[in-house]
Amino acid sequence: PQKGKTPEEVVKKYLQKVRNPPEEVRKYCVLPFCFLFALPPFLFIYFFLYLFMNEDGSLQCPTCKTIYGVKTGTQPPGKMEYHIIPHSLPGHPDCKTIRLIYNIPPGIQGPEHPNPGKSFTARGFPRHCYLPDNEKGRKVLKLLLVAWDRRLIFTIGTSSTTGESDTVIWNEVHHKTEFGSNLTGHGFPDPNYLDNVLVELAAQGITEECLRE
Ligand code: NAD
Repeated sequence: PQKGKTPEEVVKKYLQKVRNPPEEVRKYCVLPFCFLFALPPFLFIYFFLYLFMNEDGSLQCPTCKTIYGVKTGTQPPGKMEYHIIPHSLPGHPDCKTIRLIYNIPPGIQGPEHPNPGKSFTARGFPRHCYLPDNEKGRKVLKLLLVAWDRRLIFTIGTSSTTGESDTVIWNEVHHKTEFGSNLTGHGFPDPNYLDNVLVELAAQGITEECLRE
């Protein structure tokens, strides 16, 4: 206790009213109100981006899947080639066949992958895939070339077939990997295949409009 003062006197000293508070004190007092009004817009923007933003920074409507900006993936480096083979696929007797060949070597994961710096495996490469060489098949080919450039055909993750992690896997755009049989369910005939793959490509932001750009 201060010399010569009762505890009541000391407490009273600190409870004195300030008649003309200095400028900085008044500013400080309104600060909580600023936060009160500023916070809701920030929260709104944060949740808006959380709901709509893809990992690559493009915005996608969760309902209609429309993509604003260009969606890109995390496909590791490799090669995509194609050529015509003079044979018909089951279900497409009137045309030849487009064969796609994907080749991706194993490597080290980049910052966009599940375990950056760790190695990844690449099983079953080169992977051969087939499309009928008709008008719709050629359109799908062109769109798949766009998907390849945007790194959307493959990704790195855990294979649902083998259970292996840190490996190259297909990325939501189905391919037909069997030519004359359909033992895996990824072969012909499949009358809906081209339409289905067009929908899958559209879900990645790849439509005919991309071919006009
Ligand atoms: P995955 O098992 O994680 O599945 C991802 C998607 O690919 C799923 O939609 C699945 O339905 C589809 N898919 C699975 N097997 C497929 C197949 N054989 N052909 C086409 N699509 C298929 O993907 P993943 O690990 O990349 O592929 C599964 C297995 O198929 C792997 O073990 C791979 O080695 C093997 N594979 C081999 C070849 C080949 O030409 N030798 C081609 C394709 C796939």
